[in-house]
Amino acid sequence: MYHHTTLFLLLSLATFAFAADLYKVLDVVRSASDRDIRYAYKKLSRKYHPDKNKDPGAESKFVEIAHAYDVLSDPEKRQIYDHHGEEGLKARENGQHANPFDIFQSFFGGRPAEQTRKGPSSLTEFEVGLAEMYSGGSVDFQAQKKVLCDHCRGSGAASSSDIHACSGCGGSGVKIVKQQIFPGMYAQSQVTCNDCQGRGKVIKKICPHCKGAKVLDHVQHYTLDILPGMPENHQVVFEGEADESPDWDAGDIIIRVKSKTEKGGFRRKESSLYWTEVIGVDQALLGFERNLTHLDGHVVRLKHTGITQPGFVQSIKGEGMPILGRSAHGDLFVEYKVILPAELSPQLRQKLEDAFQSSRSGHDEL
Ligand SMILES: [Zn+2]
Ligand SMILES: [Zn+2]
Repeated sequence: MYHHTTLFLLLSLATFAFAADLYKVLDVVRSASDRDIRYAYKKLSRKYHPDKNKDPGAESKFVEIAHAYDVLSDPEKRQIYDHHGEEGLKARENGQHANPFDIFQSFFGGRPAEQTRKGPSSLTEFEVGLAEMYSGGSVDFQAQKKVLCDHCRGSGAASSSDIHACSGCGGSGVKIVKQQIFPGMYAQSQVTCNDCQGRGKVIKKICPHCKGAKVLDHVQHYTLDILPGMPENHQVVFEGEADESPDWDAGDIIIRVKSKTEKGGFRRKESSLYWTEVIGVDQALLGFERNLTHLDGHVVRLKHTGITQPGFVQSIKGEGMPILGRSAHGDLFVEYKVILPAELSPQLRQKLEDAFQSSRSGHDEL
């Protein structure tokens, strides 16, 4: 998923890009916990990874973030940085910085299993007009979701000093209970600590912002890009945008895109489009030329000489749906429906009788 294509550029940037305050780089406060720092790194490094983010400046930002994480996640380096700044670190490391890609890899690749759990993803079906699927466009939508409380960053405590090891279990989350099974004979068993519900930690003062819930309701706005010729049921993934929780990595918001079929409008089947055109009996007999307005407003000339049988299907090359990723279109299939008049005037009836009579007698003579 991530490649090392821009490694050389990044390493050369790495030598001079670190002037900003490392806490600001990760957008955390100076008292941030290890958890806060991990969380901030997780979010930001994914966002600015040069394989995903092609904005100018994203690469150097990615390097800065990796460096900030490398320092602040290491208690010793963090202490040196807090007391002596970048100069102190340089003296210790002789100006050498860790490879930002190695940091990224070890963070996302080599994590303990219990922390890689991914939260639930959500799947939503989205109907867009066929015209939008044809021409492309974008749809704004909003999603209600849980986000980590920005005050406690998901700890649920008013401050990190309000989190204490549980006195009931000594922080292990389990208690050993002794049960007497016979007089003088005991069995030991391990039970989940009921003081901390097995967490090993208790919160003395809960976060006033989320009332200890760790997460808050939040409405987030998104833009769904519709690409011209996007296949039906195509899934657009907004990675890591589902409900957040301190217990998992947020799942994805998945949008499944479908086109709306309007009655009497164009119909789609993969890259083909279908249209039903209604013609009169005169046009069916004598031929016709008429205009069809396409999904994006351009005009397609429909033309047929001679007789058009009801149900006749005319295929028009290159007037179907765009094919995603190619500068080509499928075909358009026009089916003709012939409508007979509801009634005939006596004059027209007479004329038709004469006309059919003469054609019939013409045949008789042959
Ligand atoms: Zn406990
Ligand atoms: Zn909170």
